[in-house]
Amino acid sequence: MAKQDDPAPSGDGAIVPLEVFEALPKTDLHVHLDGSLRLETILDIAKAERIELPSTSAEGLHAAIGCGKNFGSLVDYLKGFDITLRVMQTEESLERIAFELAEDAQRENVRYMEVRYAPMLHTRRGLKLTKVVEAVLDGLRRARETYGIKANVIICGIRNISPESSYEMAELAVAYKGRGVVGFDLAGAEAEFPAKHHRDSFQLVRDNNINCTIHAGEAYGPESIAQAIHVCGAHRIGHGCRLRENGDLLHYLNDHRIPLECCPSSNVQTGAVRDVASHPLKLYYDLGLRVTVNTDNRLITDTTVSKELWLCHAKMGLSFSDVKSIIVAGFKSSFRPFHEKQAALRRVTQELARYDESGALKSSPPVAVESRRARGSAELPAEPHS
Ligand SMILES: [Zn+2]
Repeated sequence: MAKQDDPAPSGDGAIVPLEVFEALPKTDLHVHLDGSLRLETILDIAKAERIELPSTSAEGLHAAIGCGKNFGSLVDYLKGFDITLRVMQTEESLERIAFELAEDAQRENVRYMEVRYAPMLHTRRGLKLTKVVEAVLDGLRRARETYGIKANVIICGIRNISPESSYEMAELAVAYKGRGVVGFDLAGAEAEFPAKHHRDSFQLVRDNNINCTIHAGEAYGPESIAQAIHVCGAHRIGHGCRLRENGDLLHYLNDHRIPLECCPSSNVQTGAVRDVASHPLKLYYDLGLRVTVNTDNRLITDTTVSKELWLCHAKMGLSFSDVKSIIVAGFKSSFRPFHEKQAALRRVTQELARYDESGALKSSPPVAVESRRARGSAELPAEPHS
């Protein structure tokens, strides 16, 4: 049995090293702005704005937030956000944090991301909601101009605040449609706060032809997923860990190609799954579901997209070629306009075709052949996981 640090995987079952996953083009469709800051940035802003933090060192803050720690519950996991939100209350800090998130993502070759957050959580010091949205869009635009990474925004309502506040967030999503906002989501505590209470918000965004996704089946059962789809009209599902408990609903999602935004390490942290090896992602993938792999929170989960993909390969037993299909599914599942998505898919399938089954780059002559083949199949890439 090969070890994870084998330098030259041979394609005979050896584990492909993390660095290969870092080089692949990727998406991150489920990433929270307020859970994906740099520790140094939190310390820096807190110092400049005289904001109190539980620690003034990076190590102390890492421990206070519980980065990468197993909390065992979603509600406890969410407590770390109280610390990050303290330094996210001015236009300058929001612009900087959005820029840095995209900068960190492009360093591991994330090509496209959908950054989500709830603007209402950034008004503690009187900032207008429109200013909050524009500051984040400015930061993401600056990252695009600097590095070429494309990032759009998903605005979140929060289950455990109120349906009225979700509606206000839905109105904001409508106002910024076509200006960098591509979707609407419902986040927060799932167990006692059903999505159906926020149904009016989803009606509003859908009446305006805006895509929506909902965190569901993470801290509550498959009923929550059914409600997200059938009552609120979700086009994607965040997590969906407990979908495996209802085979009929699982087949419905499969038949309708409704993507799952899986975040394996985060699911371990919140206790939604016992460990990465027992995550249902592989089961879903084997059944043909459209699964995507995402970070959820780069800081709080202490992860990257590359690391999550590597875990799918090294701990869940997905082959390198399965991981390539999952990457393609990420590009297919984005809330981008069809022609943008198609162009991105065409490029990415060509790039992925340069890697053989063992994760090694193919030598020059086969690359040309593969490129032509990839171009030819770009309209309908990677069946049957379409
Ligand atoms: Zn999330």
